[in-house]
Amino acid sequence: MHIGLRFLISQGLILMTTLSGNAMINGDADYINTFANRSEYSVVCLDSVDEKLEDKEKSEGDQCGNHEGNQCENSSGDQGKDNLGENKKTSFREALGIIDESYAVDAEIVEKWLSGEEEADGEKQVFLTFDDGPSRTITPKVLDILKEKDVKATFFQCGEMIELSQSTEDLVQRVHEEGHAIGNHFYIHDIVKINTGKNLNGEYCKKQLKKNDETFKKVLGDDFNCRIMRMPGGFASKERAKYYGLDEFKGYLKNNSIYSIEWNALSGDADGTNKSRNQLVQEVKKTAEDKSKVIVLMHDTYGKEETVKALPEIIDYFKDQGFQFKVIV
Ligand SMILES: [Zn+2]
Repeated sequence: MHIGLRFLISQGLILMTTLSGNAMINGDADYINTFANRSEYSVVCLDSVDEKLEDKEKSEGDQCGNHEGNQCENSSGDQGKDNLGENKKTSFREALGIIDESYAVDAEIVEKWLSGEEEADGEKQVFLTFDDGPSRTITPKVLDILKEKDVKATFFQCGEMIELSQSTEDLVQRVHEEGHAIGNHFYIHDIVKINTGKNLNGEYCKKQLKKNDETFKKVLGDDFNCRIMRMPGGFASKERAKYYGLDEFKGYLKNNSIYSIEWNALSGDADGTNKSRNQLVQEVKKTAEDKSKVIVLMHDTYGKEETVKALPEIIDYFKDQGFQFKVIV
């Protein structure tokens, strides 16, 4: 019985995805309460929906009407303040923390591979990435599989999910202690607030990054440093579409040694089509084909049982192909 329905109500657009076997079936009260207590539904990874929103935004046209070059005041009225930028440069070594350098790759390089700024060498490296966690139902299973297979991964987590309960905070600790990398996926997973039309809400994004970083430090200690960000809904598509306000936000990222890490392969476990275990495996193989550096997008949030089922085979596939498993720091 699959009764989990997720709704994203955004700017008059209603999108619905049916998720198989999710939190409601598993009786995760924390998760249900999160939805029940919020006026907007946000803890839903809809990265694949970004293109649809983009199309809608194109049809809405420009909501600002006050563009000067590549900068724009947004409707929230707080654009232009520079009160969040700490210009804190964190080095790769500082960010490593307890992660062994032997399986870590500098985020600056990964970002350049993904943007095409730097050509990847032929050495086969795969980066398994899990977004939107932690979840009490899926994250522990993902961690068990990674441990059993002796590989490391990168988790892009949301503070709102971390702070659901002591057990979700403990899961962040476990991810960290087991040598995986942790990335910033904003405090709240709300792709609607990230931009207004084609205007990136830069101050909102900075606040989300900062609040999430504070959550990491609260749980993992002040010594924890995170240099990687994955914007909910994706960032590269906004760059391609030349959203306004990008230059200022990218300047902020640069000044704070934060690298935007997207993906070049995916399982399709958040595209709303309820892929089976086998379909997820096939999608990874298809999208990873002919790449020497593979950054795989998957999700460890509630409802991703098929991802858990597919993961061992996905790992075995890359092992058989001679890939090394790396994390992004
Ligand atoms: Zn996400």
